[in-house]
Amino acid sequence: MSKRIAGPEIERLIQLLAKVPGLGPRSARRAALHLIKKKEGLLIPLGSAMQDAADKVRICSTCGNVDTSDPCMICTDPRRERATLIVVEDVSDLWALERAGSMNVRYHVLGGRLSPLDGVGPDDLNIGSLVSRVAEGEIKEVILAVNATVEGQTTAHYITDQLADFDVRITRLAHGVPVGGELDYLDEGTLAAALRARTSI
Ligand SMILES: [Zn+2]
Repeated sequence: MSKRIAGPEIERLIQLLAKVPGLGPRSARRAALHLIKKKEGLLIPLGSAMQDAADKVRICSTCGNVDTSDPCMICTDPRRERATLIVVEDVSDLWALERAGSMNVRYHVLGGRLSPLDGVGPDDLNIGSLVSRVAEGEIKEVILAVNATVEGQTTAHYITDQLADFDVRITRLAHGVPVGGELDYLDEGTLAAALRARTSI
């Protein structure tokens, strides 16, 4: 336990910031000090933005996306094609694909990947709701945009089995996704190419 350098309110701010991905204790101290110095321009607006987000954030009951409305903006967007559905592990992957901007479709967020070693089974993921959506009959193609990891591919195989009885084309990302790669880290061009060159399973 290191020596305290400030009062409990500031210590708490530092401790919470240190839990943000990409920040460690050192960066958290720097960030906290920066926020405190920019109290009017940054600390106060950030505090109220966080409170607004905490008050309004919802999980979309259709697709599992996060937004401030349920169903989310993507699910309710009338300009999106409804015959194609992209399945992703996490909202960060959905955001990456939206940044790539190559397809105007809807998504289904699994909320993770199958990982028996970590105790994550099919019931822990949004797979049942995916099967229900496909069963409605409107979706003609399901693109499995899962990560190129062992767990991601295991998840893809499981979903393919679950959808085997439906009249739906199942494809997955092709070139450009490095083995072991996480979608969120790919540049938009690579991701767009991987989508265009998707292959049937
Ligand atoms: Zn949605």
